[in-house]
Amino acid sequence: MLFKEFAEFCESIEGISSTLELIARISNFIKDLEDLDLYNVVLFIMGKIYPPWEERELGVGIGLLYEVLENVSGVKREKIEDMIRELGDLGLVSEKIIAGRVMLTLEAEELSIRRVREIFDEVSSLVGEGSRKRKILLLTGLYGNSSPIEAKYLTRLIMNEMRLGVGEGIVRDAIAKAFDVDEELVERAYMITNDLGRVAVIAKNSGKGGLEGIRIELHTPVRMMLAQVAESFEEAIEEMGEVAVEWKFDGSRVQIHHGNGEIKVYSRRLENVTNALPEIVEEIKKFVREGVILDGEVIAVKDGKPMPFQHVLRRFRRKHGVSKMVEKIPLQFHAFDILYMNGELIDKPLIERRRILESTISESERIKIAKQVITKDKEEIERVFNEAITAGHEGVMLKNPRSPYIPGKRGKNWLKLKSVMETLDLVVVGGEWGEGKRSHLLSSYELACVDETSGKLLKVGKVATGFTDEDLEELTEIFKQTIVFHEGKRVEFQPRYIFEIAYQEIQKSPKYESGYALRFPRFIRIREDKDLSEADTLSRVEELYLMQSKKA
Ligand code: AMP
Repeated sequence: MLFKEFAEFCESIEGISSTLELIARISNFIKDLEDLDLYNVVLFIMGKIYPPWEERELGVGIGLLYEVLENVSGVKREKIEDMIRELGDLGLVSEKIIAGRVMLTLEAEELSIRRVREIFDEVSSLVGEGSRKRKILLLTGLYGNSSPIEAKYLTRLIMNEMRLGVGEGIVRDAIAKAFDVDEELVERAYMITNDLGRVAVIAKNSGKGGLEGIRIELHTPVRMMLAQVAESFEEAIEEMGEVAVEWKFDGSRVQIHHGNGEIKVYSRRLENVTNALPEIVEEIKKFVREGVILDGEVIAVKDGKPMPFQHVLRRFRRKHGVSKMVEKIPLQFHAFDILYMNGELIDKPLIERRRILESTISESERIKIAKQVITKDKEEIERVFNEAITAGHEGVMLKNPRSPYIPGKRGKNWLKLKSVMETLDLVVVGGEWGEGKRSHLLSSYELACVDETSGKLLKVGKVATGFTDEDLEELTEIFKQTIVFHEGKRVEFQPRYIFEIAYQEIQKSPKYESGYALRFPRFIRIREDKDLSEADTLSRVEELYLMQSKKA
């Protein structure tokens, strides 16, 4: 299939807001594609080039793209920034720039989806010295060969932002419709493989039976089971009868695959973070039996006390000088579940999985099994809760001992109870350079929640307190890479990162497009372990607003 056909299809659905219509249109479009095109289209339409757990990534930031566009058209970065201010997105700007350029070659090669994939694969294989130059060259070739509409969607794809309002849910349902299989079956297959492209190809070629046959495999990460908020201990006891109580560790979630002579560690977003955690890998090798997939939390512990959670993420982020960090930020892994031991275990009840978990690990300095108490007694739960808080953790997890492990599910079988008030996880969409001593730092940040029907980001406020100088240095480094344009001191970012924000109160306010504003917002931490699909929604903001007025 030609990339142009894909681009034209994207354009044809851009204005559609009805979910049902989007599903129908996409299912129709993918129905007769051959395997490779099907795989690529399914990922591309969501603005993805690889599944998140693949080690490969394009590694093309906005700065590099500005250079490519300048190469192709002669239009300078400042001018491009002006155009974005006017048109609102780099995709439209790319379209306009390509439309206005002087063609150098008369016969442009017609781009196929496969060719675009090949170039992306080549770009992502480039590392080290000279790689930036080579990437620019390859992409310049690609844009040089593209028509305006192709350039529009190439840019959006490279920036992982298709602006079609097509998320995983819609693509899942479109696959189900196109190949006449159950949506739930597609969902299950997706939670296990984390690759909708692969799921689509299996659905097409082997239908229901093929999807049902998909099993958890070593070294393919599985979506993690998540928890709902519990309002009280009583609620959990009422819900579950007997409750399995564990500390809620203040660290970062990981899934560890150990088998076939290899160990891989995946973060909550299913990114491969193995290389950042050499001491954990070393001890897994020694103290955990082979052929297993473990679920648990990595925490940083110094002098017997947990360090703030940001330190764990700092370790995850680290690509160079890892060994120095091993001493500075020592880590422990606390296993609380097991998904696989020479075969799938997720349908077994927690209580049984726990027994298997205990038989696979011999505890060491860095590898622990999370303590668990099974009880019906409210006071016993309270005791564990206080123990966790005293030890510097967040609260407790209350789990149903009879429940299976449902990948990707945020259900009532796992409840979380924290000691502090609810915070919001908001998307950072803009910022402002500081003044005086802080003029080299991005020192205030604009926050948005997600409108779950349109997928749009709606602002709810700005945060400028709660940061240490060290935080600001670090955040400036991170956010500098995502600046789309400047407007005096104000900058707009590509929406990539989430902040956890505390606040005193939520107010109704016409000042922001969400209709709400946060009173006294305070930065708690950057949540690099969450992706945009996990940001808080407008309905969550509304719900918290109503809850607080009930309490008042
Ligand atoms: P939250 O991130 O607030 O949705 O809370 C759920 C997270 O708590 C999980 O994703 C884990 O990273 C973390 N967690 C800490 N301790 C546990 C535990 N014992 N069981 C399950 N999750 C835990």
